Amino acid sequence: MRVLLVEDHRAMRELIVDHLRERGFAVDAVSRGQDALAAAAITRLDAVILDLGLPDLDGMEVLSLLRCSHPELPAILLTARDGVEDRLRGLNAGADDYIVKPFNLLELEARLRAVLRRTGNRRSTTYSLGEIVFDTSTREAFARGRRIDLTRREAALLEEFLRVPGQVITKDLLEDRLYALEDSGSSNALEAAVSRLRRKLAAARASLLIETKWGIGYRLVEATPNERYS
Ligand code: CA
Repeated sequence: MRVLLVEDHRAMRELIVDHLRERGFAVDAVSRGQDALAAAAITRLDAVILDLGLPDLDGMEVLSLLRCSHPELPAILLTARDGVEDRLRGLNAGADDYIVKPFNLLELEARLRAVLRRTGNRRSTTYSLGEIVFDTSTREAFARGRRIDLTRREAALLEEFLRVPGQVITKDLLEDRLYALEDSGSSNALEAAVSRLRRKLAAARASLLIETKWGIGYRLVEATPNERYS
């Protein structure tokens, strides 16, 4: 899941970025409204977290402009203003939720996940395929009841595959989803992450294979009985 954070208060921005990254989100963080619009134009975002008081544009203005180009993009407003009017304006402008500062990072994360579930095709919080069960709220994968030890990036990768089993996902799309702009999300990094995930799935006897479609991308399929223990 890739999230754009627009917040001009540096310490606040860093706290949110650190927390969400730790929890497996790819986060692009900017401090100005214009930068938010520029970032949204070149990346495929799953959600935006938007501060209302920005140095250049008003957050509400940014939201309206984002809504023109990305009508479905889930948006959460951060606001220090506790006026009912601001919240109503925000919700009328298409925000899905808002949170009043100061807030707890876990609450922000929970609201973000709730918004993603409500707005996306993520109604289920558990995926299962082959011998794998994946819980999207804890980001844990289990094979035959045993937890598989995955890094947050490997877990994010597995989640992307499990969302569209059997479907080829292009490398571009995976890099977009997994790596924020400032990460060095080279294809080598993606390939290395895929290899590690493959090894862990095999070791856990997950009965799943990540197939490489040369020059295109990857897809996750259930292993046939012959392939299972090879
Ligand atoms: Ca601000």
